[in-house]
Parts: sequence; C-alpha cells; structure tokens
Amino acid sequence: MRTIIFRDDDTSYFTTPGRLEAVYGRVWEAGLPVCLAVIPEVFGDTRVYWTDGNPHDPGIPPAYRGTERSYSILENAELCAFLNEKAAAGLAEICLHGYTHTFYEFITHDRPLIRKKLAEGAALLERAFPAASIKTFVPPYDRISPAALRELIERGFHISTMSLNLAPLPDLPQIAGFAAGEIRRGQALYVCDDYLFTYKRLPAESLVLARAALARAGLTIVSNHYWMFFHPWRDTPNAADMMAWNAFLDEVLAAEGPAVMSFSGYAGRASASE
Ligand SMILES: [Zn+2]
Repeated sequence: MRTIIFRDDDTSYFTTPGRLEAVYGRVWEAGLPVCLAVIPEVFGDTRVYWTDGNPHDPGIPPAYRGTERSYSILENAELCAFLNEKAAAGLAEICLHGYTHTFYEFITHDRPLIRKKLAEGAALLERAFPAASIKTFVPPYDRISPAALRELIERGFHISTMSLNLAPLPDLPQIAGFAAGEIRRGQALYVCDDYLFTYKRLPAESLVLARAALARAGLTIVSNHYWMFFHPWRDTPNAADMMAWNAFLDEVLAAEGPAVMSFSGYAGRASASE
C-alpha cells in the first residue's frame, strides 16, 4: 500500500493562513491531513551556520531578520484561529518544531534545558491550538542529540527526522530513506532523508524525484517548507514551483492515488492492525 505523509516545517508567528492555503488548500479541500511543524517562539536573529557567511534563516521574513527577540505563535491570532479549526476538523496535525528554532537548537546534552524547552514548547502550542494534541516532534534543521532523542522517547513523542541522527542509539530502529519504525508500541519513528521540493533544485527535478517516490510501495514523507514556494519571501507563490507541486498533487489526489495520513494517524493505524 502506498501512503503519503505531508510534513511542512517552519509555521511560526510569521506565517499567514494565505501562504499555507496556497500550498495545501487542495489537500484540505480533499479532506486530507497535513502535518505542520510549528515553532512556538521563533527567534528573529537565527543564522544558518552550515552555509558560508552565516546567512539569516530563509524562513524568517526579511524585515524581521536580525531582530534580537522571539516572536510567540500566540501573537498571531489569525493563524492560531485558522489552524485550530483545521486541527479540530482532522486536517492538521500540529507538531512541535523546536522552541525558538535557533540553529542546532536540540544538539545539546543539557537535559534540563531540553526538558524545559519541550515542556514549555508543547504547553505554548496547546494554548495556541486547544483543539490539537501535540504528539510529534520535528527537530529544527533535522539535527538532534542522543540526549534529546532520549527525552522525546521518554515523553512518548513520535519523532520525524533524518536517519543520520539515529546511529548513537542502537536500540532505535536503524531505518533510512523514507520509512517508519516503532520506538515502543504506538510510538513511531519516521525518517525522511530528502526534501523533494526545495529551492536548491529546479522545480522539474523536484517533480521527477517526487514522482519516483510516489511510484514506490510503502511510505513517502513529503517534507516541505511552505516559504520555499515563495522564496525569497515574494508576495505570491513562484509559478514554476507551484506548477511542479500541483502536478504532483494531481497524482496524489487522483482516485487511484495513495493514502494520505498524519504521523499520529499512521502510528495509530500501525498499532491498531497488530
Ligand atoms: Zn525548521
């Protein structure tokens, strides 16, 4: 059976409902879920240290880059109302995406700090989205320490990340590519080792890769950044990116298309079918 999980990273104070609608409106109209990795308190001066020149995080709008403060999701009431409605209708799984989303935020062995960020981050998202239950964690930049993985496992979170983080914990399923494994009964680990649609590729190339993934049996996790479709923060989506994305959605949403599930839904189904 073919299954797709849509994961979209970096929804934050800076996100408008219109930008999410532009990318996922068709998925929602079809009554299908999208997993949104939401940043509780995004920090304005976040830099990307794996890129020469330490540029600002492209997920922060230009006007806010370099501002030395955090912006709480609660301050964007329009977005909170929009996503709360989606969560209530089963159309959005709200996932915890770090706390401030600073670079390598969860690459630390400071367990009290990790615990504080997880507890406060989840509490903030629960306040912002009372209709949602926060069950899945997506590490910022897909990098996470073994200590942070341990904390997530103890707290019962499903985890979605890249396989390169898993080797230090041999008791975790050592899976790679696009795959799901079980951490404990009902608690799932999802790996996604490639972002299919990224501004670093030509849209036509993204579409070839996405179609190849779709043709495989089993699970494909489509990890996007909604801002990529507007990169670099244009007011309207980029035509070529949207053309490739819509061609992919045509196939996903076709009558003979794959099942579309959330992380929580997939984990529930896997343990229910045992
Ligand atoms: Zn992110």
